[in-house]
Amino acid sequence: MSNNCLFCKIIAGEIPCDKVYEDDLIFAFRDIAPVAPTHILVVPKTHITSTNDLNESNANIVAHIFVVARNLANELGFADNGYRIVNNCGGDGGQTVGHIHFHIIAGRGGGGMF
Ligand code: 5GP
Ligand code: ZN
Repeated sequence: MSNNCLFCKIIAGEIPCDKVYEDDLIFAFRDIAPVAPTHILVVPKTHITSTNDLNESNANIVAHIFVVARNLANELGFADNGYRIVNNCGGDGGQTVGHIHFHIIAGRGGGGMF
């Protein structure tokens, strides 16, 4: 728990959210300002500020987040149509909340090759 971190407060239940998934390591909830019909944020329960703060000791959480994202895509029914997993890092990367998070964005259409 990092003081004054919005996502730490959401994880702790101090700020309400529309929770999608939770386990010992990570927490997933719907984005308050969705850019597509499905827009979920997945975050580690441990406070990591951004991708700049990943290292060999803590980066296994990223693999876990991707496996859970894959499972959510199957369970929520958008795996076959496809989806984006987006991480913004730092100011120029468009990061506005300083707790690392991965956007799962689906249902908007795309025009990709698959
Ligand atoms: P970033 O721009 O840092 O990659 O993404 C932060 C995301 O957090 C944005 O998409 C924004 O809509 C979302 N967000 C900001 N405040 C809240 C909140 O209080 N609740 C929820 N559910 N999402 C939030
Ligand atoms: Zn935090």
